[in-house]
Amino acid sequence: MAPPDPIIGIDLGTTNSLVAFVDARGGRGARVLGDESDQLMPSVVRVEPDGSIVVGQEAADGIVAFPDRTINSIKRLMGRSLTDASADLKYLGYEVIAGEHDTARVRVMTDAGEKIMSPEEVSACILRSLKERAEDALGMEVSKAVVTVPAYFDDAQRQATRDSGRLAGLEVVRIVNEPTAAALAYGIRSRGAKDAQTIAVYDLGGGTFDISILRLIPGDEQNETEFFQVLSTAGDTHLGGDDVDHLILDLFMGEIAEQLGIEGDQAMTSFDGSTRKALMGFARAVKHKLSSENAATVSIDLGDGRKYERSISRVEFEGLIEGWVDRSIDACQRAMRDARSGNDEFVIDSVVMVGGSTRIPFVRTKVGALFGVEPYTAIDPDRVVAMGAALQGQIIAGGKTGGKSEALLLDVIPLSLGIETAGGAVAKLIMRNTTVPVRAVERFSTSVDGQVNVKIQVVQGEREMVTDCRSLGVFELRGIPPMPAGVPKLVVEFLVDANGILNVSAVEERSGKRAAIQIVPNHGLTREEVDRIEAESFKHARDDMTQHQVVDLVTNSKLDYKWISERLERFADLLEDDYCDELRTKLNVLQGFIERAQADWRSVDPNAFHSAKEDLDRSSMRLQEIGIAESLRAEKS
Ligand code: ADP
Ligand code: MG
Repeated sequence: MAPPDPIIGIDLGTTNSLVAFVDARGGRGARVLGDESDQLMPSVVRVEPDGSIVVGQEAADGIVAFPDRTINSIKRLMGRSLTDASADLKYLGYEVIAGEHDTARVRVMTDAGEKIMSPEEVSACILRSLKERAEDALGMEVSKAVVTVPAYFDDAQRQATRDSGRLAGLEVVRIVNEPTAAALAYGIRSRGAKDAQTIAVYDLGGGTFDISILRLIPGDEQNETEFFQVLSTAGDTHLGGDDVDHLILDLFMGEIAEQLGIEGDQAMTSFDGSTRKALMGFARAVKHKLSSENAATVSIDLGDGRKYERSISRVEFEGLIEGWVDRSIDACQRAMRDARSGNDEFVIDSVVMVGGSTRIPFVRTKVGALFGVEPYTAIDPDRVVAMGAALQGQIIAGGKTGGKSEALLLDVIPLSLGIETAGGAVAKLIMRNTTVPVRAVERFSTSVDGQVNVKIQVVQGEREMVTDCRSLGVFELRGIPPMPAGVPKLVVEFLVDANGILNVSAVEERSGKRAAIQIVPNHGLTREEVDRIEAESFKHARDDMTQHQVVDLVTNSKLDYKWISERLERFADLLEDDYCDELRTKLNVLQGFIERAQADWRSVDPNAFHSAKEDLDRSSMRLQEIGIAESLRAEKS
């Protein structure tokens, strides 16, 4: 077989760029290349005095020190005339001049005199760096790439993107719209002859906001390949997470000024650059923290023994940013109006979240409410576009039929989905081969007294024990009021939509506490893997069932044992000695089974274990009656 000709996927972003690849042989789905900590490469290029080039994090770190030769946000200039780009120039620290035919050119000074670069050349520096990263990670030469661009990019902007690829030694085999790539990463593709579906892709990054409404047109007999049609786009080229940083910064600065007794107007100018930068760091940290916590606190040393201390609750934060979120919501409504164009039955089937700022829960809530569906957030919003580009690259590299490693796109759940229960057993909520969409609910309780947090592990597979299944994700339901084991009412709901995306939610009904997680169960799963897992489950079927049975018996018997022995102690005075002895003997028998089963589940006969439990349950009926009667009497008096 000829060596594979890899096609990488590149998200060439305004702020950050990434490269991803699909390991065809590993069948692991798309992965972003590079170390976890630096997968997001800042789209920043610095020209050194000797004319050499620095790219990425190092260049980004020098943006304050070398503003006139550090080139950022070059994407804003790609394929545009200076006239068109003029509104953006005030945000750029470097010099932009007119080239031939009013094209935008970057001018920087070096020791050898001025250096004029086209936006294509600057972008090529970023692409070259990503190409090298891919070659290092994959251990082979890379010459082809799929590169993403915003849906609203015109022909000139797309051509400029291709040209910069060529300058970087990369053949851009396809330009893909960013929202399309995100939809591909979620596996949104038409399934056979099903109706077209409509998808909203909401992309809120650091400095830009884009909303795209896509329609997925399924293939037909003449044309087998489905495609995404862009129905409408809207957005704001200067709306993003940076604005939130400034809102918090302004709040801090205003209050610090007040604390220091600085007059209103003076306040904003009384902080020097480095102080502002430090405060900005605090502001961003607070913002990030509030995405996962209900409050965030800062403590800033103001010198002379003075301190600025401030706690911001999520509620206050949401009040602060509501106007900002609403600006994006307005743009969504514009896009919806354009996409609808007289079609009364127009509905959005799915919503895909892209960009770091969509981690803010309030953004998710507002977007969900607007479109009336739970937005897709399961895939890292920073990485989802690059992953989609890599998937597109793999489809092109592998031909349409792709072969064995082609991602699984099915109308059915290929492997059962469930959660871990006490003792490491799996409770399956949705069995394999169930048709999507599907919903399943399971009721549970706790197995330990006073348990206030419950961990919920979501698993996939056919085996009976968690250790033999694939873990898809873990989340925690926190803050349940302490109650005896078995009293909390936990309801876990699995909801798999038509695209195969799983939403799991858990509610404790007595307290109303709720938690949720979203998962893409088929991500990186291949047909081969499904077949292997299935074969293994047949091989182990009998053993697995026994083990599951024993594990459940242990859990339930422990609750019985505790309950019965406690009551026996309490009411022994009211009972005949013979009856007490009988119960004690049976408790001991059950305890023996529990201990042996915990040491090794194979050492017990599940039927005998089951009988021992039933026997004790039957004998304890009278004890239960007395217990009830006693507690009624206690209530009356
Ligand atoms: P861009 O599309 O402009 O390249 P990104 O998609 O990388 O930007 O998003 C960057 C923005 O996301 C920044 O404003 C950053 O502060 C914000 N961000 C990242 N993580 C979080 C988080 N956990 N909570 C809130 N905002 C976040
Ligand atoms: Mg982005």
